[in-house]
Amino acid sequence: MIAADLLTYTMELGAHTRVGTVRVCCAVAEHVHARRDVVAGHHALLRELKRHWRFEVREALPDNADTVAFGTLSGAFQAGVQRAELHADGPPVVLSAGLEDGDLRLFGVAGCPAGAVLRPAECAD
Ligand SMILES: [Zn+2]
Repeated sequence: MIAADLLTYTMELGAHTRVGTVRVCCAVAEHVHARRDVVAGHHALLRELKRHWRFEVREALPDNADTVAFGTLSGAFQAGVQRAELHADGPPVVLSAGLEDGDLRLFGVAGCPAGAVLRPAECAD
């Protein structure tokens, strides 16, 4: 099984596919992202990797009823509002997020700690 198949397969396993609080597919993607030079040219894998995006929060500021998170995105956040899992202290929290000029708007969220990580909630569907 190649890594692209593994990423797809783990999304089909349902609710028993977490390493700690992180979905297995996203954990695998994180490791592969860190070794992108090894997988250069593996287009199917690289396409699949983009779906398992990761946004690490460097700083977050309140903006009316929302929070705007500044940080680093790995992978591809789809245009529009997406459901995301916020991984900070405790179990992940599902929220709505949208990309704005490289920053992530967390709708209806009052604050987000630096070092928190957001990942796609669709992996849990
Ligand atoms: Zn995933």
